[in-house]
Amino acid sequence: MSRELPRHKEAGLARHTEGGQAIGVDLGATTVKAGIVSREGNILANYSIETHADKGPTAVIRQISFTIHQLLNQSKGTDIVGIGIGSPGVVALDGGVVRYPPNFSAWTEVSLGDEIRKEFRMSVDVENDANVAALAEAAFGAGKNEKNFLFVIWGTGVGGGIILNGKIYRGPYGGAGEIGHVTIDYNGPPCGCGSYGCIEAYVGQRYLSQRTRDRLKPLLDAAEQSPSKKPVSKIVELVGGNLDLIEPRVISLAAQQGDPLAHEMLEEAGTLLGIGIASVLNVLDLRLVIVGGGISAADEFVFKAIERSIHSRVLKSSKGKIRVAPAQLGNMAGILGAASLVWMHEGEEYVQRHP
Ligand SMILES: [Zn+2]
Repeated sequence: MSRELPRHKEAGLARHTEGGQAIGVDLGATTVKAGIVSREGNILANYSIETHADKGPTAVIRQISFTIHQLLNQSKGTDIVGIGIGSPGVVALDGGVVRYPPNFSAWTEVSLGDEIRKEFRMSVDVENDANVAALAEAAFGAGKNEKNFLFVIWGTGVGGGIILNGKIYRGPYGGAGEIGHVTIDYNGPPCGCGSYGCIEAYVGQRYLSQRTRDRLKPLLDAAEQSPSKKPVSKIVELVGGNLDLIEPRVISLAAQQGDPLAHEMLEEAGTLLGIGIASVLNVLDLRLVIVGGGISAADEFVFKAIERSIHSRVLKSSKGKIRVAPAQLGNMAGILGAASLVWMHEGEEYVQRHP
């Protein structure tokens, strides 16, 4: 099999080794967010648009291209050295092939990198979105001075990225870092991945909401029977009695208002997440965990619960040496990490990064 030439060289564009700015694209199931990013990690301009994930890959690619054009128009005169894209799904570096991103209709395998490169004739790197968020923290956030850490993103699901020796560890097939599917109970509830008792099946947004509903129902039934009619939980008040509206944001709000059940649910979720993380740390011999995503942003006590749980379960050699730190970049991590893809491979040969 013959090796292809580096595509950015085919296009007559050399990679710059210093200066210049990059475009970072954060492809989500609902929104495409993108920005022009300086090497120092400042977002100089940004633009966002609906993804149209329900309309198929061609429509999504059109939205991404439109977004990039908007930014290029704004950047007249500045030196854009390349485009980085963070995408859901498993991403193969060669050609930037994105496989089966969840919640994208009719999307099996699409060479997203090639499609964008054809249009813009500059270097385009595509990487999995959790990996991109990990890279952002490594380049500009809580992992800035760290060479090795585990990044966990706790939101709709539970994802992760592994930074080893300053680089993302992708695994030989690009699928490494799926910590959400570490099993913490072989006999546990079914998970969307087809297995049972995965961390995600306890603490992912949908599952955590359902567990809270299940916990509330008997309390509500008991309250019905009781003459005192004491309110059961702030959670019920916040959703106006409609338990279908329960989501982690509501649970977190109730916890902040001192609701004991909400506090208990989040603390328990943190403890369960910590059990899974401890196993991953034991396997990889890592001592720093950076946790980001909507749910973890909730409260300090959730972090404490994660930390306690990890400390109680890691191997003796790591006991007392594990740190859990909050991610620092919030929802800008996608844009910043995607832009950092453009710079991180500089100086490497094409064949090394596209084996
Ligand atoms: Zn699973």
